[in-house]
This record gives sequence, C-alpha cells and structure tokens, in this order.
Amino acid sequence: MRAGADPEFAFDLPIPKGSSGEVFMRIQSTKQLQLPIVLRTPQELTANRSRRNLILGVYIGIMLVMALYNLFIFFSIRDKSYLYYVLYILSVTSTQLAFTGIGPFYLWPGNTWLSTSATVILTLCTATLGFEFARQFIHTRRHTPLLHRIGPVFYILFAGCIFLQQSGQAVIAYQMAQGLSGISALYVLAMAFLAWRRGSRQAFFFLMAWSAFLIGVVVFVVKDLGALPYNDLTTYTMPIGSAIECVLLSFGLADRINILRREKEQSQAEALRISLENERIIREQNAMLEVKVTERTVALQESNDHLKRTQTQLVNAEKMASLGQLTAGIAHEINNPVNFISSNIPPLRRDIGDVLEVLAEYRERGSKIDDPSLAELRAKEKSLDLDGSITELDAIIRSIEEGAGRTAEIVRGLRNFSRLDEDDLKLADLNEGIQSTLLVLAPQLKERVRIDLDLAALPAVECHPGKLNQVFMNILNNAVQAILGQQRSDEGRVQVCSRVVGDQVVISISDDGPGIPPSVIGKVFDPFFTTKDVGEGTGLGLSIAFSIVEKHHGKITVDSVPGAGAAFHVTLPLVQTNEARKRA
Ligand code: ADP
Repeated sequence: MRAGADPEFAFDLPIPKGSSGEVFMRIQSTKQLQLPIVLRTPQELTANRSRRNLILGVYIGIMLVMALYNLFIFFSIRDKSYLYYVLYILSVTSTQLAFTGIGPFYLWPGNTWLSTSATVILTLCTATLGFEFARQFIHTRRHTPLLHRIGPVFYILFAGCIFLQQSGQAVIAYQMAQGLSGISALYVLAMAFLAWRRGSRQAFFFLMAWSAFLIGVVVFVVKDLGALPYNDLTTYTMPIGSAIECVLLSFGLADRINILRREKEQSQAEALRISLENERIIREQNAMLEVKVTERTVALQESNDHLKRTQTQLVNAEKMASLGQLTAGIAHEINNPVNFISSNIPPLRRDIGDVLEVLAEYRERGSKIDDPSLAELRAKEKSLDLDGSITELDAIIRSIEEGAGRTAEIVRGLRNFSRLDEDDLKLADLNEGIQSTLLVLAPQLKERVRIDLDLAALPAVECHPGKLNQVFMNILNNAVQAILGQQRSDEGRVQVCSRVVGDQVVISISDDGPGIPPSVIGKVFDPFFTTKDVGEGTGLGLSIAFSIVEKHHGKITVDSVPGAGAAFHVTLPLVQTNEARKRA
C-alpha cells in the first residue's frame, strides 16, 4: 500500500524498529525500468517531496508562462512558428510530467491506457511538434533543403511506432520511440547546425536551446546508467534542460520579431521603392505622352495650315485662271483688229506717199496754168492748209503706227500673263513675266506710284511662269497698296530689279512706302497674317508667294527699314533639280 497520495512509490516497511526482515517486491512494466531503492525516514520523505513539488512547480510555471507569452505573440503577429512553439512547449511539459510520474498520477489518474501509452505518444508528439517548429523557425526549406525533404520519413516511422504500441507490442514500441527520439534529435541538431553555418541567425538560438535540452537528456541517461549519482539535479535534469531550452527558444523567437520587423521594413522599403519607381515611370510616360501630344498637335496644326493654304491656293488659282482666261480672251479679240491696223499701216503709208507724189505733180503743173477756175481751187487749198495737212499726215501715220505697236505690246503682255494654268515646267523670260504683271497692275497705280525697272538680260529660267507671275503680282500689289495707304504729297516709287547671280536669278522688288515694323516682319509669310482691314487683306498673298517659290526650290526674303520702305528678294535657280521638278 502506497504511503500517502503521491505519484512517488513509497511504502512503509513492515519491519519493527530495531529488528530485521526481508521485503519482496514484484514489479511489472511495459518499458525499461530504473529502480533506485532508497530508505528514508518519513521526515526525509516529506522534505524530498516538497523539493520535488517546488522544482516541478517552478518548471510548470516557467513552461506555462512561455506558452502563454508565445500564444499571445502568435495572436498578435500570426506567425505559425509561434503556434508550433506553444504546442511544442505543452507537449514537452506533458512528456516531462509523464516521465516524472506526475502526469499519470494527477492528470489522468486511474486511466491505464493513458498511463501506459502516454510516454510513447507524448514523446512522438513532442518530436513531431519539435520537428515542425524547427522547420518553421530555422527555415529548413531554404537553408537545408535536402534534410528538410527527409522529414516526412520520420513521421511515417512515428506512426508505425504508435501502431506497434497500440497493437500490443508496447516494449518494442517504447524502445523504437526512444531510438527514434534520439535519431530525430540528432537530425534536428544537424539541420540547425547546417542552417547556422549557412547564415541563419535563428538557427544559432535553436542550436543553443536544443543543445541545452540534449545535455539534459544525456545527463539523465548517464545517471540511469549509474555513472552519475541520483540527486535532484540528475533526477530533474530533463525538465531543467527543457525549461532552459524553452527559455532560449523564446529569446530566439523574440529575436525573430526583430527579424520579422526588419523584413517587414525591408519589404515596405522595397514596396516604397517600387511605387516610387512606378511613379517615376508614370511621370516619364506622362512627359513622353505630353511630348507626343505636342508633336501631334503641332503636326495637326501644320496639316491644318497646309490644308487652309492649299484651299486658298486652289481658290486663288481658280481666280487667277479665270483672270487668265479673261485676259487671254480680250488679248485674242484685240489682237485681230490690232493686226489689221498694224498690217495696213505700211500700204497706207505707201498709198498716201503715191497720192502725195501725184498731188505734188498736179500742184506743180497747175501753178503754171492761168485759169480762173483754178483760182477757186487754190483759195480752197489755202483755206484748208493743204501743206500743213500733208506735213501732219506723216505724224498721224507714225502715231497710228506707234498706237498699234503699243496695243500689240499690251496684247502680248496680256497673253503672257494669262499663261497661268500651265502644269509643266517651261523655259521662260522672267522679265517678260514682270512686265506683263505690271501691265495688269497699271490701272491701280493712279499716277501716284512710279515703277522703275532695272531689268538685266536674263537667261530663260525653268519654271511655272504663270505661278511666278502670281508671286510678282502679290509682292507688287503689296508695295503699291503700302504706298497708296500713305498720306504723302510726292509720288511713291517701286523699283523692280532683276539680276543673274551664279546659277540663280534674283528679282528684287522694293518700295519707299512705310516699311514693315520689326515686330511684324517675322510673321509676314505666315498664312492669314495681315495688318490690313477686314476685306482689304486676307493675309495669304505672301504665304502663297512663299510656297510657290519654295516649290521652285528657291527662296524669298524680306528686309525693311521702318519708315523707309520694304524690299522683297526672290531667288530662283535657273534650272530645276529632278527632286524640285517632282515637287513643282
Ligand atoms: P495681305 O496683303 O492680304 O495682308 P500678305 O500675306 O500679302 O497679306 O501680306 C501680309 C502683311 O505683310 C500685310 O498685311 C502687311 O502688313 C505686310 N506687308 C507686305 N508687303 C508689305 C510692304 N511692301 N510694305 C509694308 N508692309 C507689307
């Protein structure tokens, strides 16, 4: 019969004080037993039990505090390592309590199945949880991938062991569990060691903690083998080892919080860097988009301007074409009568000459005849001033001749001007183009503008003569309008000058009008730029002139002295290049 309700097996010896006797004990167990037998007085027994209760109480306290602390952390940061650790602590504590006999006695009193199975099941449970914790805690998958993969083999062996135990092979199962615990402890040690060598800071804590526990186990086993004495330290070496292990692991886990925080900070910094990078990329893309939008807008604006210019050119060309047709028609109609006049002048002069010769003979012979009937004729001859008329006749014929010549000249000019709708490049005399343009402009001059021509002999220029006439017309028209717009007493002057410079022809048209202010001069070739009143100017004359000259591969420039006039210079190549031929 046990002496007192206590997990320890203590019996009163039925031997009276001062006598001797023999005591027999029959012991049955499913696992190996170490049976140190000690004789103690009741006082010693009580003191011993108090010490044991104190040590185990402290142990349970430490383990529970560790478990609760880490459980709390698990709920805070939701890291699985902490949960495995809490379960591991509970399992280790239960195993230790089972080993010391506390478990069967207090936690599952009278439960034979648990009393016999607990040590094996709890040992394997602890090993499994220790495994899982180690895998999570020291990242075995990353640091020791090969050993990590072996892990499940142990689980199969653990399951086999429990199966053996449950199928009545308790002794074999117990021995197998012991063996497996030893091997798995070394396996975990090896993983921790390798991970530590490969730079895992956590593995260091694990290694220290695990070593503390293993030292406890070794001391316990060595004591059981009789190499160490039975005392409180050797008896409770396993709980002490596991308590130290758990405390050290808690340090490791606390350190893990730092690592997690650092990782979090790093990932936040990385996320920040990525978002800044994204922002930068978006900003760059925006800038690029803006540039593209600007480019497109400019291109759109250009094509819009081009469209407007082309439209106006078409309208203008149409206008010029009808003007051309009109002038060509008029020129043709006038040409025939003028030809009659011109061609009839020489026979008229000859016939009148003949008539005058005969008349002179008649007068000569008549003066010698004294006939009163002739006196009347002589009086009439005198009153008509026949001599004056005869002298005048020559002047009249000369003036008819000159008039007819001038008319023929005008007709030629008009025909020249009307060559507007020719598509092909032609060899043309630009001086002629200038003169015929001036002819059309002449009515506008109103005796207030004088045209000075300083035309050098020009070789034929390969061009669209009609289009160049339009250029001269637009520039001359502006010059005349500029002068007419002035309040001046004297006559305005427009000078037209043509020169050959190298393989180019330069036509300069200058006036002594008001000139162009510097703020305006840069814009005069812009389409729709005008300083004239609505209805007076469209702002297209010079822009059309510009594009015509450009198509001839030439250039047009302007210079002006405000208050003293403006000068436009049109430079054209004598011969067009193939490319210019295509463009023109
Ligand atoms: P528009 O004559 O219809 O105004 P242009 O393109 O021919 O259009 O001319 C643009 C502007 O250039 C004129 O409005 C005028 O201000 C200026 N300009 C052109 N030629 C002269 C000139 N000879 N003297 C002064 N200003 C001129």
